[in-house]
Amino acid sequence: MQQEKIKILFPDVTGVHREVEIFLHQKPDCLYGFKTSVDGSSLPDYASVEDGDLFLKPASGKFVDLSSYGGGLLVVGAVYFSKGERHYLDTRLKAEETSKYLFEHGLEALVGYELEFFIMRKIKHYLDSRRQLFYAKPVENTCLTRQGNGKYFTSIHSRVDEILEETTTALTRAGIAPLKIHRENGVFNQYEISFRPYPLLEACDNIILSIKTVREVSKAKRLTAVFMPKPFTDDYGNGLHLHLSLWVGARNILFEDGALSQEGRYFIGGILQHARSLAAFTNPSLNSYKRLAPGFEAPVHIAWGYGNRTAMVRIPRNGESIEARNPDASMNPYLGVPALILAGMDGLRKKIDPGDAVEFNLYEKQGFSNIRRLPLSLKEALEELMSDYEYLKPVFSKSFIEKYVELKMREVVAEITLPSVLEYQLLEHIS
Ligand code: GLU
Ligand code: MG
Ligand code: MG
Repeated sequence: MQQEKIKILFPDVTGVHREVEIFLHQKPDCLYGFKTSVDGSSLPDYASVEDGDLFLKPASGKFVDLSSYGGGLLVVGAVYFSKGERHYLDTRLKAEETSKYLFEHGLEALVGYELEFFIMRKIKHYLDSRRQLFYAKPVENTCLTRQGNGKYFTSIHSRVDEILEETTTALTRAGIAPLKIHRENGVFNQYEISFRPYPLLEACDNIILSIKTVREVSKAKRLTAVFMPKPFTDDYGNGLHLHLSLWVGARNILFEDGALSQEGRYFIGGILQHARSLAAFTNPSLNSYKRLAPGFEAPVHIAWGYGNRTAMVRIPRNGESIEARNPDASMNPYLGVPALILAGMDGLRKKIDPGDAVEFNLYEKQGFSNIRRLPLSLKEALEELMSDYEYLKPVFSKSFIEKYVELKMREVVAEITLPSVLEYQLLEHIS
């Protein structure tokens, strides 16, 4: 092995990506059976300060070689107690257990994903005496008019194209296959890379590795890739759409002769029924709820349709998968993907009917229909999760859910006491 270092990445239970870099010449007996110690007392409620030693081990079968970007080999890891058993807050375990649960039912889930992100020259918060201004500077080939829509815009070869090219090359070499790249709607230089479906656990690893790779390669080109769900109030947000399918051997049971099967309908029924509590995992940040607003192709209502990009679940006309449009990149994939699949499984078990496909523009029906809405805030989503988690039981214990809600509620409380830009603007006469 030529590379000198590996970087072990792991999202913590709140969704924050963390990493430890290890110099291999100090540890020649790498990689499997290899472990490194981490301070669990500095991870959210993983350990006490008096007894904080935990271990991190490489877990994904894939490595992305970022050595030409100064990053070494990138791998996803899992967290263990010092005595050797898996830590109960290690999230990858949830995806492993979900795969096992499906396997016991003779099933396998495949998951494709679409990464959306802005490529910016820089993105910064400024504190301008009284007002906090959000300042972002676009890169050279950006449409500056802020009118219309950037989707499928062409570009003259630039650093942005180099980022896309080099990112997809590095990921392809690691066995993570991109399918398609295009400019997205956002006029502030938004892009999408979509990826081939992989088995559930592998797909979760791939999501973490892909986001990091896009960010590292962008950084090496002195640009910044921004995946946050809604960085700009008046532009499109970043989704992380998932394409789900469920297989018995070589047969995708969600479809039959190219059309949605009865099982497929039930699967959608389960996802829609639990959508409000699922949001706590698929949209787990304060910022997530700023994206779920009308007018920007992000879901607001809990409904499904075919070509309909205003619906939360969409069946692509050319596809063999169910597209969940609610997730965003603040999701910990090891929690969000299993939660979605378990909701779908609950639909299959209980034969939950999803109702009719919606053909109208849901953004135009606000207030007039009885179609349920997604939560308006993280607080609402967490409260929903506390009252609806039975369907997660095959993999998520009650104590895990309670701990998760407790930790994420800290973000809710932090926001309540933080004065916002808007408050300064509205109270300018007295501030
Ligand atoms: N950017 C949109 C979102 O926030 C999705 C656009 C699309 O349909 O690809 O989910
Ligand atoms: Mg898209
Ligand atoms: Mg999509």
